[in-house]
Amino acid sequence: MHIVVLGGGYAGLTLVRDLERLLPTGVEVTLVDERETHLVQHLVHRALRRPALDDSLTIPFERLCSRADHHQARVTGLDRDSRTVETSDGTLSYDLCAITLGARTAFYGLDGVETHATPLKRPEHVAEIRERFERVCERGGRVVVGGAGLSGVQTAGELAELAATAETDPEVVVLERADTVAPGFDESFRSAIAAALDEQAVDVRTGTTVEGATANHLLLGNDRLAYDQFVWTGGITGRLGERKQVRATLRLDDRTFALGDAARVVDAEGTAVPATAQTAVGTAGTAATNLTRLAEHLRDGDGFEPRLDRYRYDPKGWAVSVGDRTVATVGSRVIRGAPAHLLKTSIGSGYMGSVGAVSEAVQYALGR
Ligand SMILES: Cc1cc2nc3c(=O)[nH]c(=O)nc-3n(C[C@H](O)[C@H](O)[C@H](O)COP(=O)(O)OP(=O)(O)OC[C@H]3O[C@@H](n4cnc5c(N)ncnc54)[C@H](O)[C@@H]3O)c2cc1C
Repeated sequence: MHIVVLGGGYAGLTLVRDLERLLPTGVEVTLVDERETHLVQHLVHRALRRPALDDSLTIPFERLCSRADHHQARVTGLDRDSRTVETSDGTLSYDLCAITLGARTAFYGLDGVETHATPLKRPEHVAEIRERFERVCERGGRVVVGGAGLSGVQTAGELAELAATAETDPEVVVLERADTVAPGFDESFRSAIAAALDEQAVDVRTGTTVEGATANHLLLGNDRLAYDQFVWTGGITGRLGERKQVRATLRLDDRTFALGDAARVVDAEGTAVPATAQTAVGTAGTAATNLTRLAEHLRDGDGFEPRLDRYRYDPKGWAVSVGDRTVATVGSRVIRGAPAHLLKTSIGSGYMGSVGAVSEAVQYALGR
């Protein structure tokens, strides 16, 4: 019996570690990821100001997996009928599969946007944005962040902190098509984030749609906005085609599950769940239980299919850093300042500890 997990982000790595604990002996698990290291992606923007943080945010899979085999290769295709995965390093067969490849940045075919913007998902993007912004800071000018979701507002916050130390007074602008920052979140949380951006002199323009980009201008309907640097965090799309829609069992077909950012999950209450690290980790728990039940069922060859668990979206609250201003929710309360910062730090280090990256968790908590 062989289970393959495609992608070792929050969903894939949490799933693999749960499977290592739950599966009966004799079931093999392979984690396929194109990288050598797991990335703590929800903190990646922090490395814009603290490049040394990269070491705590990228953790070798070989230290995090015990029973599972890490196969470093790029997934290029999946044939669910023949139950095979095509990779840059050959074909793998499986009995059960979990698609946890995350998502890539969506450019929506907007003219010139992919060519001229830097996305922000991986450490190499952070390095490129930092390098370009250093040049903007030297000469003065304007950086525009397209998209005010969690990644956009946090990126703008970091850039604003850097801008505040530059003599040339560079301008940080955020453009958002919706009529609010952090669309989809509670009003009190959105207002607190907007206030934090305002305190950092970030120019937030909501209700503004980017329609295209040239090398130095953004096209906004009848207007144009000049820029010196353009960062795009305007949305996500699937890696192998569209993001798969799954219901609360996370099952795509008899032998395949999809979870984390790779899926559009509708939970047991019929709620369309947002693509976040919290969702990725939560869905991994449900998928691990369901894959284990199916593996036992296939091994024993008994008649009836097991009952599968259903994922319930139950957000524990949110914490975002807008530069040095952290905003968090605890239940329906919004908190700021040192308590919010402590909460954000403990969520990050708590996650790292939960996947076995204990020394990185300590380094991060100590601010190193
Ligand atoms: C700047 C930023 C800030 C964010 N802030 C927050 C936040 O404050 N709170 C929050 O909850 N969420 C936040 N998020 C969102 C969160 O990071 C994602 O929702 C989360 O990473 C999704 O986890 P995942 O496991 O589905 O995918 P990922 O973490 O993206 O993992 C996907 C994995 O698949 C691998 N992979 C991809 N393609 C292939 C391929 N073809 N072959 C092999 N391997 C492949 C990748 O290497 C990666 O390891 C933020 C995201 C960004 C970018």
